[in-house]
Amino acid sequence: MITIWDLIAKEIPDETILRAFDQMIFALNSKIKGIYWVKELRRPRDGVPAWGLLGGTEISEIYVSVRCDKEEAIKTLIHELTHYLFDYLNDATSEKLVRQIERLLWRRFSEQQRELLWDYLVRAPTIEKYE
Ligand SMILES: [Zn+2]
Repeated sequence: MITIWDLIAKEIPDETILRAFDQMIFALNSKIKGIYWVKELRRPRDGVPAWGLLGGTEISEIYVSVRCDKEEAIKTLIHELTHYLFDYLNDATSEKLVRQIERLLWRRFSEQQRELLWDYLVRAPTIEKYE
């Protein structure tokens, strides 16, 4: 398992990026219970519209707003998977760091890796709202 320190290092080798990707795919295949597009997605805490959420009974479902275009949806998936893999990054103060990792991984993932993540979103059903 890579740690958060591996992803905030000054120089991050391709090997680390590949391991982060593999961990995300492993999570998608065996840990994440569901991915859903949501017509009306709001943060339960304050009702503010959200692009994505990690939720569900075991905090292992990913919700993505239908307002996201393809690129935004893949970035949102990367973002929520980062919350999932590094579950100590779940309070509001970690948001900046999670966004930093999201941008880093988006930049460093290849077109093919991005498409593989998109495949999970293409197969996801659409629901009315997150409760
Ligand atoms: Zn977040």
